[in-house]
Amino acid sequence: MPIRLPQLSRREFLKRAALAGAACAFAPQIHAGIFGKSRDQHTLVFFSDSHIAADVATVKSGVNVADNLSACVRELAAWPVKPAAVIVNGDLAFKSGLPEDYATFGQTLAPVRALAPVHLSLGNHDEREHFWNAFPHDAAKLKSVPQKQAAVFSSARANWFLLDSLEVTDQADGEAGAAQLAWLDRELSTRPGKPAIVVCHHNLRLAGATTGLKDTAAMEEMFAKHPQVKAYIFGHTHDWKISRHASGVHLINLPPTGYVFKDGRPSGWVRCALAAAGAEFELRCLDANHPEHAQVQTLKWRA
Ligand SMILES: [Zn+2]
Repeated sequence: MPIRLPQLSRREFLKRAALAGAACAFAPQIHAGIFGKSRDQHTLVFFSDSHIAADVATVKSGVNVADNLSACVRELAAWPVKPAAVIVNGDLAFKSGLPEDYATFGQTLAPVRALAPVHLSLGNHDEREHFWNAFPHDAAKLKSVPQKQAAVFSSARANWFLLDSLEVTDQADGEAGAAQLAWLDRELSTRPGKPAIVVCHHNLRLAGATTGLKDTAAMEEMFAKHPQVKAYIFGHTHDWKISRHASGVHLINLPPTGYVFKDGRPSGWVRCALAAAGAEFELRCLDANHPEHAQVQTLKWRA
Protein backbone atom coordinates (compact mmCIF):
# COMPACT_ATOMS: atom_id res chain seq x y z
CA MET A 1 0.00 0.00 0.00
CA PRO A 2 2.12 2.90 -1.17
CA ILE A 3 1.79 6.33 0.33
CA ARG A 4 3.21 9.23 -1.59
CA LEU A 5 4.68 12.00 0.51
CA PRO A 6 5.05 15.14 -1.61
CA GLN A 7 8.31 17.01 -1.47
CA LEU A 8 8.25 19.77 1.14
CA SER A 9 9.18 23.34 0.33
CA ARG A 10 12.15 24.76 2.19
CA ARG A 11 9.80 26.87 4.28
CA GLU A 12 7.54 23.94 5.19
CA PHE A 13 10.51 21.71 5.96
CA LEU A 14 12.08 24.24 8.30
CA LYS A 15 8.72 24.85 9.98
CA ARG A 16 8.30 21.15 10.69
CA ALA A 17 11.89 20.84 11.87
CA ALA A 18 11.34 23.70 14.30
CA LEU A 19 8.12 22.14 15.59
CA ALA A 20 9.89 18.84 16.12
CA GLY A 21 12.40 20.72 18.25
CA ALA A 22 15.23 19.05 20.07
CA ALA A 23 13.59 15.65 19.78
CA CYS A 24 14.36 15.62 16.12
CA ALA A 25 17.97 15.27 15.05
CA PHE A 26 18.17 17.68 12.15
CA ALA A 27 21.91 18.09 12.22
CA PRO A 28 23.31 21.21 10.55
CA GLN A 29 25.16 19.11 7.96
CA ILE A 30 21.83 17.67 6.82
CA HIS A 31 20.40 21.15 6.35
CA ALA A 32 23.45 22.19 4.41
CA GLY A 33 23.12 19.36 1.92
CA ILE A 34 19.44 19.60 1.16
CA PHE A 35 18.93 22.97 -0.43
CA GLY A 36 20.33 24.65 -3.48
CA LYS A 37 21.17 21.71 -5.71
CA SER A 38 19.64 20.56 -8.95
CA ARG A 39 17.48 17.52 -9.60
CA ASP A 40 18.52 14.59 -11.78
CA GLN A 41 15.27 13.42 -13.34
CA HIS A 42 16.76 10.01 -14.19
CA THR A 43 17.99 9.15 -10.71
CA LEU A 44 15.83 7.34 -8.19
CA VAL A 45 16.88 6.20 -4.74
CA PHE A 46 15.82 3.07 -2.89
CA PHE A 47 15.72 2.35 0.80
CA SER A 48 14.30 -0.92 2.10
CA ASP A 49 13.81 -2.88 5.30
CA SER A 50 14.54 -0.05 7.71
CA HIS A 51 12.83 -1.90 10.61
CA ILE A 52 12.49 1.20 12.76
CA ALA A 53 11.22 0.80 16.31
CA ALA A 54 9.74 3.53 18.50
CA ASP A 55 12.89 3.68 20.62
CA VAL A 56 15.83 5.08 18.67
CA ALA A 57 18.18 3.03 20.86
CA THR A 58 16.79 -0.26 19.48
CA VAL A 59 19.47 -2.71 18.40
CA LYS A 60 18.90 -5.81 16.33
CA SER A 61 21.61 -8.23 15.18
CA GLY A 62 24.23 -5.86 16.52
CA VAL A 63 22.91 -2.86 14.59
CA ASN A 64 21.20 0.30 15.82
CA VAL A 65 18.52 0.43 13.14
CA ALA A 66 17.62 4.12 13.60
CA ASP A 67 21.29 5.12 13.40
CA ASN A 68 21.60 3.14 10.19
CA LEU A 69 18.61 4.88 8.60
CA SER A 70 19.93 8.25 9.78
CA ALA A 71 23.28 7.50 8.18
CA CYS A 72 21.55 6.70 4.86
CA VAL A 73 19.54 9.93 5.13
CA ARG A 74 22.70 11.96 5.79
CA GLU A 75 24.45 10.43 2.80
CA LEU A 76 21.52 11.13 0.54
CA ALA A 77 21.27 14.70 1.79
CA ALA A 78 24.94 15.14 0.96
CA TRP A 79 24.59 13.59 -2.53
CA PRO A 80 25.42 16.15 -5.24
CA VAL A 81 22.00 16.02 -6.91
CA LYS A 82 18.42 15.55 -5.81
CA PRO A 83 16.76 12.35 -7.05
CA ALA A 84 13.48 12.32 -8.97
CA ALA A 85 11.97 10.19 -6.20
CA VAL A 86 12.86 8.13 -3.16
CA ILE A 87 11.15 4.78 -2.63
CA VAL A 88 11.18 3.01 0.72
CA ASN A 89 10.21 -0.53 -0.12
CA GLY A 90 8.59 -2.00 2.94
CA ASP A 91 9.36 -3.25 6.44
CA LEU A 92 9.45 0.34 7.57
CA ALA A 93 8.58 -0.78 11.11
CA PHE A 94 10.57 -2.95 13.46
CA LYS A 95 8.42 -6.10 13.72
CA SER A 96 4.69 -5.60 13.97
CA GLY A 97 4.03 -2.05 12.77
CA LEU A 98 3.27 -0.24 16.01
CA PRO A 99 2.02 3.36 15.77
CA GLU A 100 5.10 4.62 17.63
CA ASP A 101 7.40 2.84 15.16
CA TYR A 102 5.96 4.97 12.34
CA ALA A 103 6.37 8.15 14.37
CA THR A 104 10.09 7.45 14.76
CA PHE A 105 10.37 6.33 11.15
CA GLY A 106 8.74 9.56 9.93
CA GLN A 107 11.05 11.71 12.06
CA THR A 108 14.17 9.87 10.96
CA LEU A 109 13.26 10.11 7.31
CA ALA A 110 12.12 13.74 7.54
CA PRO A 111 15.10 15.42 5.82
CA VAL A 112 14.51 13.28 2.73
CA ARG A 113 11.16 14.96 2.34
CA ALA A 114 12.87 18.22 1.49
CA LEU A 115 14.78 16.49 -1.32
CA ALA A 116 12.20 14.62 -3.35
CA PRO A 117 8.78 13.02 -3.28
CA VAL A 118 8.92 9.87 -1.17
CA HIS A 119 6.94 6.71 -1.89
CA LEU A 120 6.39 4.33 1.00
CA SER A 121 5.23 0.76 0.62
CA LEU A 122 4.58 -1.97 3.12
CA GLY A 123 6.26 -5.23 4.01
CA ASN A 124 5.31 -8.10 6.23
CA HIS A 125 6.50 -6.28 9.35
CA ASP A 126 4.14 -3.34 8.75
CA GLU A 127 0.54 -2.77 9.79
CA ARG A 128 -1.84 -1.02 7.42
CA GLU A 129 -4.03 1.01 9.72
CA HIS A 130 -1.16 2.22 11.87
CA PHE A 131 0.78 3.14 8.76
CA TRP A 132 -2.10 5.15 7.30
CA ASN A 133 -2.75 6.87 10.60
CA ALA A 134 0.89 7.89 10.86
CA PHE A 135 0.70 10.02 7.72
CA PRO A 136 -2.80 11.50 7.91
CA HIS A 137 -2.15 14.52 5.74
CA ASP A 138 -0.11 12.68 3.18
CA ALA A 139 -2.15 9.56 2.57
CA ALA A 140 -2.91 10.39 -1.02
CA LYS A 141 -5.95 9.00 -2.70
CA LEU A 142 -4.29 5.88 -4.01
CA LYS A 143 -7.09 3.47 -3.32
CA SER A 144 -6.88 1.79 -6.68
CA VAL A 145 -7.44 -1.73 -5.34
CA PRO A 146 -9.56 -2.50 -2.27
CA GLN A 147 -7.30 -3.34 0.69
CA LYS A 148 -4.23 -3.42 -1.53
CA GLN A 149 -3.57 0.10 -2.62
CA ALA A 150 -1.23 -0.09 -5.54
CA ALA A 151 0.14 2.96 -7.34
CA VAL A 152 1.79 3.88 -10.57
CA PHE A 153 3.91 6.93 -11.29
CA SER A 154 5.96 8.02 -14.21
CA SER A 155 9.52 9.26 -14.48
CA ALA A 156 11.23 10.49 -17.63
CA ARG A 157 12.29 7.03 -18.78
CA ALA A 158 10.04 4.52 -17.02
CA ASN A 159 6.68 3.85 -15.46
CA TRP A 160 6.95 2.63 -11.89
CA PHE A 161 4.36 0.22 -10.49
CA LEU A 162 4.36 0.07 -6.71
CA LEU A 163 2.67 -2.99 -5.29
CA ASP A 164 1.51 -4.00 -1.85
CA SER A 165 2.48 -7.53 -0.85
CA LEU A 166 1.67 -7.30 2.86
CA GLU A 167 -0.66 -10.18 3.62
CA VAL A 168 -0.41 -10.88 7.37
CA THR A 169 1.68 -8.71 9.69
CA ASP A 170 4.70 -10.54 11.13
CA GLN A 171 4.34 -13.58 8.90
CA ALA A 172 7.13 -14.02 6.42
CA ASP A 173 5.29 -14.69 3.17
CA GLY A 174 3.41 -12.10 1.18
CA GLU A 175 0.84 -11.96 -1.56
CA ALA A 176 -0.09 -9.49 -4.27
CA GLY A 177 -3.56 -10.99 -4.63
CA ALA A 178 -5.81 -11.47 -7.64
CA ALA A 179 -7.38 -7.99 -7.55
CA GLN A 180 -4.03 -6.20 -7.44
CA LEU A 181 -2.60 -8.37 -10.21
CA ALA A 182 -5.67 -7.64 -12.33
CA TRP A 183 -5.04 -3.93 -11.68
CA LEU A 184 -1.40 -4.36 -12.69
CA ASP A 185 -2.43 -6.17 -15.86
CA ARG A 186 -4.83 -3.36 -16.81
CA GLU A 187 -2.39 -0.58 -16.02
CA LEU A 188 0.41 -2.26 -17.95
CA SER A 189 -1.92 -2.75 -20.91
CA THR A 190 -2.60 0.97 -21.11
CA ARG A 191 1.13 1.79 -20.97
CA PRO A 192 2.78 -0.51 -23.50
CA GLY A 193 5.43 1.79 -24.89
CA LYS A 194 7.64 2.83 -21.98
CA PRO A 195 9.82 0.55 -19.81
CA ALA A 196 7.89 -0.64 -16.77
CA ILE A 197 9.52 -1.38 -13.43
CA VAL A 198 7.61 -3.30 -10.78
CA VAL A 199 8.46 -2.60 -7.14
CA CYS A 200 7.20 -4.95 -4.45
CA HIS A 201 8.42 -5.85 -0.97
CA HIS A 202 8.55 -9.62 -1.44
CA ASN A 203 10.97 -11.62 -3.56
CA LEU A 204 9.65 -14.03 -6.15
CA ARG A 205 9.48 -17.49 -4.65
CA LEU A 206 11.81 -19.11 -7.15
CA ALA A 207 13.85 -22.28 -6.67
CA GLY A 208 15.75 -22.11 -3.38
CA ALA A 209 13.58 -19.41 -1.77
CA THR A 210 11.99 -20.41 1.51
CA THR A 211 9.69 -17.39 1.73
CA GLY A 212 8.46 -14.82 -0.72
CA LEU A 213 5.54 -13.89 -2.91
CA LYS A 214 2.88 -16.58 -2.84
CA ASP A 215 1.55 -15.62 -6.26
CA THR A 216 4.93 -15.78 -7.95
CA ALA A 217 3.55 -17.77 -10.89
CA ALA A 218 0.96 -15.07 -11.60
CA MET A 219 3.66 -12.40 -11.49
CA GLU A 220 5.74 -14.42 -13.94
CA GLU A 221 2.72 -14.44 -16.25
CA MET A 222 2.80 -10.63 -16.12
CA PHE A 223 6.43 -10.71 -17.20
CA ALA A 224 5.51 -12.98 -20.11
CA LYS A 225 2.45 -10.99 -21.18
CA HIS A 226 3.94 -7.49 -20.93
CA PRO A 227 7.36 -7.22 -22.56
CA GLN A 228 7.74 -3.63 -21.36
CA VAL A 229 8.33 -4.98 -17.84
CA LYS A 230 12.09 -4.72 -17.53
CA ALA A 231 12.85 -5.07 -13.85
CA TYR A 232 11.36 -6.31 -10.58
CA ILE A 233 12.73 -4.57 -7.49
CA PHE A 234 12.20 -6.07 -4.05
CA GLY A 235 13.58 -6.31 -0.52
CA HIS A 236 12.55 -8.77 2.18
CA THR A 237 15.60 -11.06 2.03
CA HIS A 238 17.97 -8.37 3.38
CA ASP A 239 20.48 -9.55 0.81
CA TRP A 240 21.73 -7.18 -1.92
CA LYS A 241 21.94 -8.95 -5.26
CA ILE A 242 21.10 -8.45 -8.92
CA SER A 243 20.11 -11.44 -11.01
CA ARG A 244 17.98 -12.20 -14.02
CA HIS A 245 14.69 -14.02 -14.40
CA ALA A 246 14.38 -16.54 -17.24
CA SER A 247 12.14 -14.02 -19.04
CA GLY A 248 14.99 -11.50 -19.15
CA VAL A 249 13.45 -9.33 -16.43
CA HIS A 250 16.18 -8.07 -14.08
CA LEU A 251 15.66 -8.97 -10.41
CA ILE A 252 17.04 -6.32 -8.08
CA ASN A 253 17.20 -7.40 -4.45
CA LEU A 254 17.65 -4.28 -2.33
CA PRO A 255 19.88 -4.32 0.74
CA PRO A 256 18.35 -3.37 4.09
CA THR A 257 19.14 -0.01 5.58
CA GLY A 258 18.73 -1.92 8.86
CA TYR A 259 20.28 -5.25 9.80
CA VAL A 260 21.45 -8.10 7.59
CA PHE A 261 20.52 -11.75 8.04
CA LYS A 262 23.98 -13.06 7.18
CA ASP A 263 27.26 -11.72 8.51
CA GLY A 264 29.24 -9.87 5.92
CA ARG A 265 26.33 -8.89 3.71
CA PRO A 266 26.01 -5.13 3.06
CA SER A 267 23.46 -2.71 4.45
CA GLY A 268 22.79 0.67 2.90
CA TRP A 269 20.85 2.19 0.03
CA VAL A 270 20.75 1.98 -3.75
CA ARG A 271 21.08 4.61 -6.42
CA CYS A 272 19.38 3.88 -9.74
CA ALA A 273 20.10 5.95 -12.86
CA LEU A 274 17.89 5.23 -15.84
CA ALA A 275 19.31 5.28 -19.34
CA ALA A 276 17.33 5.07 -22.57
CA ALA A 277 17.46 1.27 -22.75
CA GLY A 278 18.59 0.19 -19.32
CA ALA A 279 19.77 1.42 -15.97
CA GLU A 280 22.69 1.46 -13.62
CA PHE A 281 22.35 0.40 -10.04
CA GLU A 282 24.90 1.30 -7.41
CA LEU A 283 25.12 -0.01 -3.88
CA ARG A 284 25.89 2.71 -1.33
CA CYS A 285 27.00 0.54 1.56
CA LEU A 286 27.08 1.97 5.07
CA ASP A 287 30.48 0.35 5.40
CA ALA A 288 32.61 2.18 2.86
CA ASN A 289 35.18 -0.65 3.11
CA HIS A 290 32.71 -3.31 2.03
CA PRO A 291 33.89 -4.96 -1.23
CA GLU A 292 30.54 -4.27 -2.93
CA HIS A 293 30.36 -0.63 -1.88
CA ALA A 294 30.02 1.79 -4.82
CA GLN A 295 30.01 -1.03 -7.35
CA VAL A 296 27.94 0.01 -10.34
CA GLN A 297 26.06 -2.63 -12.31
CA THR A 298 24.86 -1.61 -15.74
CA LEU A 299 21.74 -3.40 -16.92
CA LYS A 300 20.38 -3.53 -20.44
CA TRP A 301 16.62 -3.94 -20.81
CA ARG A 302 15.24 -7.00 -22.57
CA ALA A 303 13.76 -6.45 -26.03
ZN1 LIG B 1 12.72 -6.89 6.43
